[in-house]
Amino acid sequence: MLAELRGLNEECGVFGIWGHPDPAPISYYGLHALQHRGQEGAGIVVTDGKFLRAVKGEGLVNDVFSNGKLEKLDGKAAIAHVRYATAGGSGIENVQPLLFNSTTGSLAIAHNGNIVNAVHLKRNLEKQGSIFQTTSDTEVLAHLLKKSHHTSLEERAKQALKLLEGAFAFIILTEDTMMVAQDPHGMRPLSLGKLGDAWVVASETSAFDLIGAEVIRSVEPGELIIINDKGLRSERFSEPAERAICTMEYVYFSRPDSDIDGINIHMARKRLGKQLAKEIQVEADVVTGVPDSSISAAIGFSEASGIPYEMGLIKNRYVGRTFIQPSQDLRERGVKMKLSPVRQVVHGKRVVMVDDSIVRGTTSKRIVKMLKEAGAKEVHVVISSPPLKSPCFYGIDISTDEELIASNNSVEEMRELIGADSLSFLSVEGMVQAIGRTDEGKNCGHCLACFTGEYPTSISPNTVLPHEKELVR
Ligand code: SF4
Repeated sequence: MLAELRGLNEECGVFGIWGHPDPAPISYYGLHALQHRGQEGAGIVVTDGKFLRAVKGEGLVNDVFSNGKLEKLDGKAAIAHVRYATAGGSGIENVQPLLFNSTTGSLAIAHNGNIVNAVHLKRNLEKQGSIFQTTSDTEVLAHLLKKSHHTSLEERAKQALKLLEGAFAFIILTEDTMMVAQDPHGMRPLSLGKLGDAWVVASETSAFDLIGAEVIRSVEPGELIIINDKGLRSERFSEPAERAICTMEYVYFSRPDSDIDGINIHMARKRLGKQLAKEIQVEADVVTGVPDSSISAAIGFSEASGIPYEMGLIKNRYVGRTFIQPSQDLRERGVKMKLSPVRQVVHGKRVVMVDDSIVRGTTSKRIVKMLKEAGAKEVHVVISSPPLKSPCFYGIDISTDEELIASNNSVEEMRELIGADSLSFLSVEGMVQAIGRTDEGKNCGHCLACFTGEYPTSISPNTVLPHEKELVR
């Protein structure tokens, strides 16, 4: 669905390349393939072996690196980042990669995820004299790296990473080394690839396809990869904990052409749609998906149910980002600018509208209304994931419990609120089975916390939601 309209946003995408003569242009293309993970800011930091140089800015990748800005970034390696800014945490100081200069050398960090014990660590560091420049939890890692008594960067990184709890996929760059780390539960996707002799790392494999790189493997939970002119080494900073990859990456966030641990996202979404058709009964004439992320599930639902798939809703391309509008009327217009019903497809029909999730329910309500105004006789909303009942502490801006429609209402109450003729969700078991991971453990390698309220890491009273970060400054 349309992320910015419903309060469900990925926090970031990261990219890194080592050993290439054009690291900045390659990173630029890599960021394009990750743009859906964050549209509020982007940055690239390059090393030439002696100095780190950065270009960062607020806005889309195209805008940030316009007017020949990439030409300033010569070097042999780069790390890069796209960012979704949460409510209180926007501003250029929070755009990544964060860059720190000191007399002992420079350091840049790109992070995807959320460190759940950041407040606790930050308070301790401040007591010891650290002064923070940003509201980003990422800065905690920089201070921990600096404070460590170890002499080698690698040992300092291991010591610092061990102290962090939560979801993190880090790429760290110094003048002569790139390091890549994945949290012990492996919560955020992170893949390693090769482009000729150069090593590449990215949040999603779609970035590799765009630059012509080959996928080597996923970065493992608890792994620290060190890449420099001597080559690549894999170390561990922690034993892997039970795997808990973010299930919403499969359901909604990742691009359909990406693979996570060898499972293609489009195919997984099709299976979610098929599973949904097995679990529910609905009499209808036509199936349609809310573009773009629900199209795959809608095709799967259509194939398994035998109800024909049609393009009942189209996304209006080239519409810029509409920021939250103050009035209801303007908000409605915002949805209409982005989505249009195809009248000839839905008029007089019983329509199955497949969507991947419902957060507040306001957008679903508007789309149902739009389909009915276009003449749909009935609108049956089917959701290719279970109800979202609990907030996410791991880097996805899923609103607080109070804002989540499913945490306060029964399915019947939600149906009434969105004005649909029926509303159905996929079961948790059906979702896990359809995605097809085969990890050991009761959740088969998934984080299911926003559906079940069972969090894979400890959540302390100090834990903040991504959009509350500004409050703890
Ligand atoms: S709580 Fe939900 S959105 Fe957050 S990491 Fe877990 S599965 Fe993903």
